[in-house]
Amino acid sequence: MDYDVIVVGAGLAGLVTATEIADSGIKVLLLDQEPESSLGGQAWWSFGGLFLVNSPEQRRMGIKDSTELAWQDWLGTAGFDREEDEDIWGKKWARAYVEFAAGEKREWLHNMGVRFFPVVGWAERGGYLADGHGNSVPRFHIVWGTGPGIVAPFERKLREHIKNGLIEYRSRHRVDRLLTRNGAVEGVSGSILEPSTVSRGEASSREIIGEFEFKATIVAVTSGGIGANHDLIRKNWPSRLGTPPRQMLSGVPAHVDGRMLAITEDAGGRIVNRDRMWHYTEGIKNWNPVWNLHGIRILPGPSSIWLDAKGRRFPAPNFPGFDTLGTLEAIQKTGYSYSWFILTQKIIEREFALSGS
Ligand SMILES: Cc1cc2nc3c(=O)[nH]c(=O)nc-3n(C[C@H](O)[C@H](O)[C@H](O)COP(=O)(O)OP(=O)(O)OC[C@H]3O[C@@H](n4cnc5c(N)ncnc54)[C@H](O)[C@@H]3O)c2cc1C
Repeated sequence: MDYDVIVVGAGLAGLVTATEIADSGIKVLLLDQEPESSLGGQAWWSFGGLFLVNSPEQRRMGIKDSTELAWQDWLGTAGFDREEDEDIWGKKWARAYVEFAAGEKREWLHNMGVRFFPVVGWAERGGYLADGHGNSVPRFHIVWGTGPGIVAPFERKLREHIKNGLIEYRSRHRVDRLLTRNGAVEGVSGSILEPSTVSRGEASSREIIGEFEFKATIVAVTSGGIGANHDLIRKNWPSRLGTPPRQMLSGVPAHVDGRMLAITEDAGGRIVNRDRMWHYTEGIKNWNPVWNLHGIRILPGPSSIWLDAKGRRFPAPNFPGFDTLGTLEAIQKTGYSYSWFILTQKIIEREFALSGS
C-alpha cells in the first residue's frame, strides 16, 4: 500500500478527516481537483455558523437548551421516514452529532483557537408545533471571522502535518475512479489537471496533463455536494417541492459538481438522501460574481415583509429565516418563480447580513 488512508477532497470535511487521522500518527494522502488557492472549499465562503447545544454563549443570553430539546428538533426537521432502509445510519449519526454538539465540540474547537460571536443567531426557527421542523431556540454560533475563521485552524494543522511528513497534499489531482478488489475499495485513479493560477472560488481549467493511481487501506470520500450542478439538482428534485424553478443561482463554486457521487456509486458505494436537498429562497445575484450565477443569501432579520408575486403575504410560518424549504414550496405553488422581499434602508442597516459574498 502507498498510504494508510486517502482522502478525496480538501474542503472542510477533508481537512478535518485528514488532520484528525494524521494526529494519531497515520499517513494520509489528501487529493483535490482544485488548486491550493481553493483549500477549505465551501467552508471558506460560508457564514461559519455552527450548531452547538447548551453553550456558554447561549446560557449568557438566557437561552435554555439541552441535548433532548436539540434531539427533538433534529427529529422534527429530519423527518426520518425510512428507518428500515437509508435512514438507519443517518439517524445514528444524527444522535452522535447532537451529543457531540452538546459535549466536546465547543472545547475541541476552542482549543484550536476558534472563538464565537457573543450573540447566538436563530437560524431555521420552524414556527410549527414542538415536534415539527426547526430550532426551538437560537443555536447558530457564528465563528469569529466567519468561514475563513473556521478553515484557518484546520489549514494550520494541515501545514504542520505536511511538514512532519504525515500528510501529503496533492492539488490538481482529480479522482475519476475508485479502484476495487474483491468488492473492497483499495485505491483511487484519476487525472492530473494542468496547474492553475485562478483565485479562490473561480472555475479552474479541466485540461488533463497526466494520470495517477494510488493504493491505500482506507479511502474516504469528502467531495462535497451538488450545488453547482443544476442538472443533477433538477434530476433529483423532490416532488414535494413541485417543479424545479426555471432559474436558480449557485451558492457554491463550480467545483461543487457532485461528480464524485456517481464515481463512488460505480464502485459499490451507496448514496442516500438524494431527494433531501437544501435550498435558500432569500437569494440575490452577486453584483460582482466570483463563479457562474453566483448567488448570495440574505440572512434576514425579523422586520422585512415577504409577499408572493401578486402581493399577498405568505401564510405563517413562511417568514424570512423560519423554514426555507417550506417557503420554497409556498413560492413554487404560486406558479410564479419570484416573490417580493420588502424592506427599508433602515432595516438593511440594522438587520442585514449576507452569506457567501
Ligand atoms: C455561502 C455559504 C454559506 C454557508 N454557511 C454555512 C453556515 O453558516 N453553517 C454551516 O454549517 N454550513 C454552511 N454552509 C455549508 C458548508 O459550508 C458546507 O456544507 C461545507 O463547507 C461542505 O464541506 P465539504 O468539505 O463537505 O465540501 P466542499 O467544501 O465542497 O469540498 C469538497 C472538495 O472536494 C473536491 N473534489 C470534489 N470532487 C473531487 C474529485 N473527483 N477529485 C478530487 N477532488 C474532488 C472539491 O474540489 C472540493 O475542494 C455554507 C455554504 C456556503 C457556500
